[in-house]
Amino acid sequence: MTFPIARLWLAGLALVPLAARAQTPAAFSDDHRALTKTISYDEMSAFLASVNGKGPISVSVEGTTTKGRSVYLVHAVRGTAPSFRILFYAQQHGDEPAGKVALLYMIRAIAAKPERLPADVDLWIMPMMNPDGGEAGTRRNGAGADLNRDHIVLEQPETQALYRVVRRVRPTLAVDCHEFGRDSDERRARGWIAYPDITMDGVNNPLFDPAVIAASQRWVDESAAAEAAAGHPFLRYSVGGMPPDEEQRHSAPDIDGGLNAVGMYGGLSFIIESAVMHANAPPAPDLARRVDAYLVLFWRFVNGDGHRAEDLAAVEQARNRPLPAFIPTNYLWVNPGMTITKFPVVEAATGRVLEIPTPNMMTVMAVKSAVPTPLAYAIEPRSAAAFKLLLERQGIPYEELTAARTVTAEACTLLRIEDDFDDVYSRYEGRQIVRREAAAPRELPAGTLWVPLAGEAAVRAALVLEPAAMYGPYQYPRFRALVTPGKPLPVLRVVRASAN
Ligand SMILES: [Zn+2]
Repeated sequence: MTFPIARLWLAGLALVPLAARAQTPAAFSDDHRALTKTISYDEMSAFLASVNGKGPISVSVEGTTTKGRSVYLVHAVRGTAPSFRILFYAQQHGDEPAGKVALLYMIRAIAAKPERLPADVDLWIMPMMNPDGGEAGTRRNGAGADLNRDHIVLEQPETQALYRVVRRVRPTLAVDCHEFGRDSDERRARGWIAYPDITMDGVNNPLFDPAVIAASQRWVDESAAAEAAAGHPFLRYSVGGMPPDEEQRHSAPDIDGGLNAVGMYGGLSFIIESAVMHANAPPAPDLARRVDAYLVLFWRFVNGDGHRAEDLAAVEQARNRPLPAFIPTNYLWVNPGMTITKFPVVEAATGRVLEIPTPNMMTVMAVKSAVPTPLAYAIEPRSAAAFKLLLERQGIPYEELTAARTVTAEACTLLRIEDDFDDVYSRYEGRQIVRREAAAPRELPAGTLWVPLAGEAAVRAALVLEPAAMYGPYQYPRFRALVTPGKPLPVLRVVRASAN
């Protein structure tokens, strides 16, 4: 689905046209630990109107959903030159509300007591990315899309709104908020529930600057003690089957979700998932606990962990770093040397924590193949319209050739796209298998899109366009329609600017 760009742009400038209300909506208990139900879109809208203009808080509408609801953006800043820009965004999955609720409590605390916001922080919050799904109680948005798989193509108004903010604000640190079920059928069948109250992971795509990956992981590792002090079991995020027989891995390295896609803009980036007991029908007695666990992490990000200067330097360096000589195209979580991990679970009957020794916890990001970094990518004129949209949505500069140009380039022939769950990479569908052809002289006709691999957008261009990558735009219908097994993909790898 496309959306008129001009209308969204105007929507982004509009201030919330609601009169400020005097009091907080009733559902919003003063103490988050007394919460028994989530906060609806209407309650949130009324609350945001009530805090707009209070202390350092301003509220605007950044986008509009297909069902006409607003995607709100909250800005809080006190200092005149805040250097550390933080973006929190929550509830991309409509049925995962705890992150939003926690963010609204943080906004309320700052509105009531502005000094709670450090002067060096420029804080941006999108508390409810998917209000249509939130109101319907569904993971997907009003158009039926999973927003957290839309981050390559940005076809939904909600994700487009997010990236307008990302490009405008350039967050030093961004956080995507989710929830996971702690009492899945698989766990129940073994008499277990999941151990942690909350989990977190940082960026991990192997093309990213190692200093940013390391800084993100430091935040993850050091969050355990803060959560423990608040009484919350914490683990680094993992997903997968049951230990010891089935694989578990940390967060996916791919760029179709917010964690690594926002990471393509060079900042630190995180995913947080709090743990929900689905057996508890609303009002959920564990909502308060999830919100409390969230707030520990949010305030830690806002107050700092003593490494502000180091993080700022890492992000600055990442945004100015030329691409490395090779681009990883095939990478996955592995367990080198078959380390045995003690994986904690809670025994449902007793509440005891059991440690299940497992060799199938994958903890290291491994690169299986990489290709030499090309000079540029060239996109054939036949596919230019679809790719122009993509490049513009991702903020990747390009040139449309007005005359033919002869270069040396490699084509990639598509062998197949696999649409089953990917057991090897422990990932959903959409893996593309290609064969790289030998470099050869090529005449690029007028109308070709020329995308140089230079500047701050180079990382995004490489991750979105590289035809030899395992997961690219061809997992999406608009781009799948452009390719045929046995034929070359529409993106060429330009290796020299001349024919020889
Ligand atoms: Zn989610």
